[in-house]
Amino acid sequence: MALKLVSRSQWGARDYRRPNGATLYSGKRRGVKLHYLGTAYSDRPHTQCAAYVRQIQAQHMDGNGWSDIGYSFVVCTHGYVYEGRGLRRRNSANGNTTLNNQDYAVLLMVGSSGLTEPTDAQLNGARDAIEYCREEGPAGTWLGGHRDGYATACPGDAIYAWVKAGAPRPDTSKEDDMPLTAAEKKELAALVADQVWKRDGLPVRWGTTENPSWSAYSILHHATEVSRDNRTRLMKLQADVGALSGVVSRLAEGGGLTAAEIQAAAEAGAQAALAKLGEQLADTDPQG
Ligand SMILES: [Zn+2]
Ligand SMILES: [Zn+2]
Repeated sequence: MALKLVSRSQWGARDYRRPNGATLYSGKRRGVKLHYLGTAYSDRPHTQCAAYVRQIQAQHMDGNGWSDIGYSFVVCTHGYVYEGRGLRRRNSANGNTTLNNQDYAVLLMVGSSGLTEPTDAQLNGARDAIEYCREEGPAGTWLGGHRDGYATACPGDAIYAWVKAGAPRPDTSKEDDMPLTAAEKKELAALVADQVWKRDGLPVRWGTTENPSWSAYSILHHATEVSRDNRTRLMKLQADVGALSGVVSRLAEGGGLTAAEIQAAAEAGAQAALAKLGEQLADTDPQG
């Protein structure tokens, strides 16, 4: 995953107050602490995310009286990482000066109600932010939440469990492991049969009263045979085309061929094309 960093100018950040907003970390960071919004939040189109980050900054500067947005970085549900105080300037989100100086503060835009679970894109974005902090900060490998060493529910149970498990990238293959219900399997089988019937022109449709005894296997078997027949026809057609183009090119080279020579050339071309196609068929046909 490539870090999708949104700079302060890109999200329209206000300038921070000095001198407090310019305070740098006094040493290397131990690691990264995660946060959530702790308020109701509903997911929204990405076009509205920058405005939401500006709103957080306004709340921190005008409501809390801080010199800038408190977080080091903010991760939206679409996986974008907004630069808050960034890598160098000390954050003000972890609870007190000691805690702020100790770890970076990364907010995931997830609520305590409404949207309470981070999205897969967001977890990837948070992982990107953690790696960015480690590589460019630098930060050590410690990972935790706002609640570590401070009395708060932040970052919520879902994010806390994830970060304490080492903040792994989400497993996108898990959807494939979801078992199908019997009804879904039946529907899927009918769909496949329909497609095979439509494409290859099987004489009867699976499950009709004309031939109720057909099983999915017999459909598949028949479809395979139809497909093999079609392939043989296609092969002959391609051979004919190959033969004709051979004749045409000889005629174009100077002409003067007799009818017998044209016939012989066509047959030779057809044999050569058939032999070539036969090799291809042997390579690709599991039945052959
Ligand atoms: Zn927090
Ligand atoms: Zn977004």
